[in-house]
Formats: sequence, structure tokens, C-alpha cells
Amino acid sequence: MSEKTLFQKIHDGEIPSDMVYKDEHCFVIKDINPRAPVHLLVIPVKPIISLAHLEDDDHAVMGHMMLLLRKLAVEHGLGEHFKTQINTGERGGQEVFHLHIHLMGTPVN
Ligand code: AMP
Repeated sequence: MSEKTLFQKIHDGEIPSDMVYKDEHCFVIKDINPRAPVHLLVIPVKPIISLAHLEDDDHAVMGHMMLLLRKLAVEHGLGEHFKTQINTGERGGQEVFHLHIHLMGTPVN
């Protein structure tokens, strides 16, 4: 069995994190090096390497995470104003090879 990714270790509680949401398909942590007042990472439980490694049956979890974004944005004070980012591959700026969606923004007050 291959070694766990950083985010799998976080999911399993082996590495501490500030986890703000968790369900059977995905979990959400605060980025350790935030680039915005709110900077969350939405991560599938399944250790999909990147967008370039998606399989046909991953559409449900990807849709689930996309729909979760707006709820997280509201819960964290961003309302309808936020930035999302998915880095893919080394030359795409990806550093952690377990797919994740960055959710960033500034709360209104
Ligand atoms: P990326 O460059 O898209 O792969 O983003 C990886 C992100 O993971 C970066 O924004 C890091 O700050 C963040 N990160 C790395 N280690 C941790 C950690 N232990 N807990 C939370 N976020 C992390």
C-alpha cells in the first residue's frame, strides 16, 4: 500500500489541523499559510492526486465539493464574493499531491 498523503494523515488525525468541516466524502481545513483572511482547503477523502488524475466515477465527489464551496463561503462571512483555485501538477504550482480546492476571501465585517 502506498504511503499516506499529507492530507490523509490530517484526515486521520495523525497530523494536527484546524478542521472546519468533515463528511464521508470530503473535509475542509484552514490553510496553514493563509494568503487571505479566510483561506480554506476543500479536500476529498479519496486521495485523488490531482485534476489530471480524475476517474469517471469521481464526478460525484467533485460535484459535492463544488456545491459545498458556496455554503462554506457563507459560513465564513464571504457571502457571494470569494476566490477558488486548484493547482494541478508541479508546473501548475501544486505542492501537495492530493487534490484540493483553495477557497479564499475577505469577510465583509
Ligand atoms: P498547493 O500549492 O495547491 O498544493 O497547496 C498546498 C497548500 O497546502 C498550501 O497553501 C499550504 O500552505 C497548505 N498546507 C501545507 N501543509 C499544510 C498543513 N499541515 N495544514 C494546512 N495546510 C497546509
